[in-house]
Amino acid sequence: MSSRVFNFSAGPAVLPVKVLKQAQEAVLELPGVGASILEISHRSPAFDEVLSDATSMVSELLGVPSGYTILFLQGGSSLQFSMVPMNLLRDSGKTADYLLTGSWGKKALTEAKRQGETNVVWDGKSENYSRIPAADEFTWSKDAAYAHITSNETIQGIEFATDPDSGSVPLVCDASSDFLSRPVDVGRYGLIYACAQKNAGIAGCTVVIIRDDLLERVPQNLPSMLDYRLQASGGSRYNTPPVFGVYVMMLVGRWLRDDVGGLEAMAKLNREKAKLLYDVLDANPDFYRGHAHPASRSVMNVTWRLPSEELEAEFVKAAKARKLTDLKGHRSVGGIRASIYNAMPREGVEALRDLMLEFQKQHGG
Ligand SMILES: *Cc1c(COP(=O)(O)O)cnc(C)c1O
Repeated sequence: MSSRVFNFSAGPAVLPVKVLKQAQEAVLELPGVGASILEISHRSPAFDEVLSDATSMVSELLGVPSGYTILFLQGGSSLQFSMVPMNLLRDSGKTADYLLTGSWGKKALTEAKRQGETNVVWDGKSENYSRIPAADEFTWSKDAAYAHITSNETIQGIEFATDPDSGSVPLVCDASSDFLSRPVDVGRYGLIYACAQKNAGIAGCTVVIIRDDLLERVPQNLPSMLDYRLQASGGSRYNTPPVFGVYVMMLVGRWLRDDVGGLEAMAKLNREKAKLLYDVLDANPDFYRGHAHPASRSVMNVTWRLPSEELEAEFVKAAKARKLTDLKGHRSVGGIRASIYNAMPREGVEALRDLMLEFQKQHGG
């Protein structure tokens, strides 16, 4: 494994080596089954067990209360941008509230507008999406269909530090890039969705955790595949689910439970990793300019600028020479973005920190 790099990609992203090895083994032969995970029927007893284990893993790790259904769907989080308003806004006679803290929230809003009336309760655009607003800076509508947030804006690198309160309005959260990175008080939410390929698995599998009373609101005659109620009654098997993706998420769940020790332990490790990088930004503010306001800093995606685009390009190159890859920031923000998801080892972050310190000494004057 000596040629493996430290992969700072924002997604698809780094996975635990143990999980990759188990997945590799299952591609040839699923333990005890005598066939590949890629070959078995999605209605077979072997997959019954995988689906049930993956569901309990998510449920156990997050402490999902009773009265919620966990779905494994396809289409990525981008399809959830449409499914949420199709199922919960269309024909409701209500308005959906959106809190915009970055690029993904804006995309979610664009799709919601196609399904019904929307209302933007706060928009961080004038500050270049560099912070999460305080609770007293916005107000949810009293009778909104739902209130939508993005818990971690992957591109800007800003994250809610705590679960917000939306009162009696169902809170809907795009948790794509911090899902399973820390404990979440699921009971505060009406619906949580997350594509797996950022922090919880591979592309092609999206988790939806939905409070059961919201299933009652689903309008009639939605396309079957896009109907939460139908997907729930079919146990995520209305059609062929993303079999391999569900399997990998189950493995990631087991790794989190058995090797890491649960989400509290994971969150602590993640905070410690992030602090290694933020400490460098804080100690060298003239050379490294963090994008996020300190109180809104993401524990998953750390974003910063250097004094010039030339130095940024040089930094990315120097990093690559040390096997630290995929550090170029998203084109809309520029600079550097280090995605340090659950499976990024502390050694990788330490190597990046060391490079930052040396690079600053060399070029900081
Ligand atoms: C990556 C990402 C998405 C889009 O996910 P897809 O699976 O590519 O559709 C949406 N929201 C957030 C916060 C993301 O990080």
